Amino acid sequence: MQRGVVIIGAGHGGSQIGFSLRQEGYDGPIHLVSDEPDLPYHKPPLSKAYLKDVSQDVQILRAEKAYVDARIELALGRKVEAIDRQAQAIRFAEGGKLRYDRLVIATGATNRKLTLTGHDLEGLHSIRTRADAAHLRAAMNTANDIAVIGGGFIGLEAAATFALLGKSVTVIELAPSILGRAVSPVVAAHVDAEYRKLGIRVLTATGIDRLEGEAGKVRAVLLADGTAVPADLVLVGIGATANDALARDAGLTCDNGIVVDATLASTDPTIFAIGDVANFPHAQAGRRVRLESVQNASDQAKHVAKTIMGKIEDYRETPWFWSDQGPMKLQMAGLSFEADRHVRTGAPDDPAFSVYHYAGDRLLAVDSVNRPGEHMVARRLIAAGISPSAADLAEGPERLKNLIGR
Ligand SMILES: Cc1cc2nc3c(=O)[nH]c(=O)nc-3n(C[C@H](O)[C@H](O)[C@H](O)COP(=O)(O)OP(=O)(O)OC[C@H]3O[C@@H](n4cnc5c(N)ncnc54)[C@H](O)[C@@H]3O)c2cc1C
Repeated sequence: MQRGVVIIGAGHGGSQIGFSLRQEGYDGPIHLVSDEPDLPYHKPPLSKAYLKDVSQDVQILRAEKAYVDARIELALGRKVEAIDRQAQAIRFAEGGKLRYDRLVIATGATNRKLTLTGHDLEGLHSIRTRADAAHLRAAMNTANDIAVIGGGFIGLEAAATFALLGKSVTVIELAPSILGRAVSPVVAAHVDAEYRKLGIRVLTATGIDRLEGEAGKVRAVLLADGTAVPADLVLVGIGATANDALARDAGLTCDNGIVVDATLASTDPTIFAIGDVANFPHAQAGRRVRLESVQNASDQAKHVAKTIMGKIEDYRETPWFWSDQGPMKLQMAGLSFEADRHVRTGAPDDPAFSVYHYAGDRLLAVDSVNRPGEHMVARRLIAAGISPSAADLAEGPERLKNLIGR
C-alpha cells in the first residue's frame, strides 16, 4: 500500500510542498504535521503588522478548505518525537506512528536563548510563533522602557514598532554594527542613523553582564561597563538554531542544520530537508549555507516536490529576503560572502539607494533600501549571471532592464 509523503513542520516550506506536490501531479497520500495548533500562517508579520495593531489576527497561508480540496491531511498540534528510518515511520510524542515513502523535514529554527544571570526573569520575550507574538503584544501595552538584545532583522523591526508606539527603546548589540554581516556596512549605517532619528538608543560593541530584577520581574539590563539600562520588557533577538534534533537522533548527518545535497536530499535518499533547517550547497556562493527566509523555504519546497516526481536537478534559485524596518524597506538579493567591491547607487543623501556587491567584475548580491523596483531587477540580473559595469549602474534602472532584455 502507498504510504505517501509525510511532511514534518507546517510553516512556509512544509505547507508549500503539499500544494506543489499536487501541482506536479502527485496523487498519493500527503500528511502535513505541525506541533503548532494553528492553521499554517505567515511568520513575517509577527514582528511587523501583527505587533503594531492589536486588531490584527495572524494571516493564514491558505484557508482550511484548500487543504481539504488538495487532499492534504493536516495533523495540527502534534509533535513528532522520532523518525524510525528502518520502518520508514515517524512517531508522535503522544503515541502513534505514521509511515512514509518519502519524508520531508521542514521543522524550521528555534530562537537562541540567553544564558546570562537573570535569563529566567519575567518580562523576557522572543518572537518565533503566533503564541510568542501574542504574548509580547499583550505585555508591551504596559511596558515603558524596552531593551532589545541583538541588532538583527527581527529585533530591529520590533524596536521600530516599540518606538513608534512611544516607548523608550534601547537596542544592545555585541558586534561593532547592527545587522552584522547580513547587509553591507553602508546599509547598516543608514539603518542605525534612521533609528537614532526615531529616538531609539542604539548601543553597538556593547556586552551585557546580567539582567537585574525585582520580585522576579526584569528591571534593568546591566552592561559590561556597569551601566544599567532600565527595562521593564526585554526582547531577545540573538539569532536562531536549526531544529535538526529529530534528524540527528535518526542518524542523518547534521552540521548547523540537516546536511543535504544539491537536490536537497539528506544522507538518507528517502528523506529531504527544506527551509530554515536545511544546510545546502549553494551553487552561486560556492559554499554550504543555511538560510532563514520565506523565499528559501518556498522555493526549496517547490524544488523537492519536483524531485519526488522524478524531475531531478540541482537547486539553484537566487536567494532574496526582505525586512520592513520602520519607514525603510530593505530587500536583499544574492549572497555577498565573497564580495571584494561594493558600488552604491543613488545620491549620497538619498534615503532610497542600493549597494551592488562584486567579486572582481562578477555581481554577487544587491542590497536595496526603499527601491523595490531596483530589487526586482537585481534578482533577475543575478539569476541571469549578468554583471553590470559601474557605467551601467550610473545610467540607472532602465539601462539595467535593457541588459536583461526588459
Ligand atoms: C518574527 C519573524 C519575522 C520574520 N520576517 C521575515 C521577513 O521579513 N522576510 C523573510 O523572508 N523571512 C522572515 N522570517 C523568516 C521566515 O519566516 C522563515 O525563514 C520561514 O518561516 C522558514 O520556513 P520553514 O518552513 O523552514 O520553517 P517555519 O515556517 O518556521 O515552520 C517550521 C514549523 O515546524 C514546526 N515543528 C518543529 N519541530 C516540530 C516537530 N518535532 N513536530 C512537529 N512540528 C514541528 C514548528 O513549530 C513550525 O511550525 C521571519 C521569521 C520570524 C520568526
